[in-house]
Amino acid sequence: MKLTIIGTGYVGLVTGACFAEVGHQVVCVDNDAAKVKLLQEGGIPIYEPGLEELVKGNVAAGRLNFTTSTTEGVEKSDVIFIAVPTPPMADGSVDLSFIEKVAREIASAMTGYKIVVDKSTVPVRTGDKVTETIKRYCKARVEFDVVSNPEFLREGFAVEDLMKPDRIVIGVRSQRPVAAMKEIYAPFQAPVVVTDINSAELIKHASNSFLALKISYINALSIICDATGANVQEVANGMGMDARIGRRFLDASLGFGGSCFPKDLSAFIKIAEQMGYEFGLLKEVQRINAEQMNRFVKKIIDTLWVLKDKKIGVLGLAFKQNTDDVRMSPAIELCQRLQKEGAILRVHDPKAMEKSKALLKDVTYVDDMNEVAEGCDALVITTEWDEFKKLDLERVRKALSHPILFDGRNLFDRTEMERLGFIYKSIGR
Ligand code: NAD
Repeated sequence: MKLTIIGTGYVGLVTGACFAEVGHQVVCVDNDAAKVKLLQEGGIPIYEPGLEELVKGNVAAGRLNFTTSTTEGVEKSDVIFIAVPTPPMADGSVDLSFIEKVAREIASAMTGYKIVVDKSTVPVRTGDKVTETIKRYCKARVEFDVVSNPEFLREGFAVEDLMKPDRIVIGVRSQRPVAAMKEIYAPFQAPVVVTDINSAELIKHASNSFLALKISYINALSIICDATGANVQEVANGMGMDARIGRRFLDASLGFGGSCFPKDLSAFIKIAEQMGYEFGLLKEVQRINAEQMNRFVKKIIDTLWVLKDKKIGVLGLAFKQNTDDVRMSPAIELCQRLQKEGAILRVHDPKAMEKSKALLKDVTYVDDMNEVAEGCDALVITTEWDEFKKLDLERVRKALSHPILFDGRNLFDRTEMERLGFIYKSIGR
């Protein structure tokens, strides 16, 4: 099928590449001319495992093209996906100006029937607004359908998630676009949920808020474990074996971040507020998450006492493993908090150092993870990269002026670390 994706970021580019991979003809549109030029010249603006090969292969096969022109994108396809940002505003509600602008642009370019699919994460009832906007700005008086098709990919596993999705959610107002939507997703062989637009939009916010809730739950438990000498990983393993609970998203840490969970939680709380419901449960999820970071910083200060002029090594800048995304990264927040206390930082991340440079200044970026600890008073692990499990611990211990390691992701075995001579502080163990 001929498909256009407007917004070629983490969601749009990976979606476009995966659609092309299964045989669709795809145009990816972005208004960032530098990004489009880079893609047209064979470059990849983000790091995502498997993405580069997928993009290059499909560009070579002639199934994937890039342009800055929404008009061209709308003309070339029957189905137009919207994958532009929906960032938070100061009060936590969603800035829908990107969606509104794209809806207007699509409307003015439409000359025949189109299916307009929203893939961005939006508040419930946004589909109605998009429909009204297209009607208002479409001079050609053509028919169209608006569909809600929220995206559930995880950064760092985006290609895998898109190629093998748990489910595809399709929110529609009429049956007319359903067959086309099913045909687009048929090659992915996933269960399809066809529902109304409001429910589809809610499924996304409800899912992300629930996952954040699961993380805050285990983080709250980690405090009880710290206080009692229990081990939060053992507790999570035991809980997770219950099929009703499941082990995933039960890893205690210094807290969640990224471009989705914090903003989607705030948005959902705000949406509920607008509907007259105070979603206290989700406010508590936010509070626990903020407290988890405070507790981790306090753990560092309690151990090192004064941080001013202390040298601290930090492993991890991305908000999670396998990505170069540093938006709302807890690792960056931690670095900034340590800097505020006067600490001098040496930092490393396998993929996110370039993108960190705009957010994190006056630190030493170190290329080799084993050299970060050189001359430091302590080492802090902030991101759960698999690479970090392969640290040369003997070398790291010797490189540290004091063998103190704060593990914000529980990557190592406590007994083993103590046997190796570390003063090892992790979360809830
Ligand atoms: P992103 O910032 O990586 O990409 C968005 C792209 O849209 C950018 O390249 C930007 O230049 C482009 N853009 C903005 N306005 C445009 C316009 N008028 N015309 C053409 N292009 C335009 O954002 P993202 O992470 O891909 O997120 C997009 C949406 O998907 C958001 O609503 C987000 O909440 C949702 N989402 C994100 C993820 C994720 O893991 N990143 C997962 C699921 C859903």
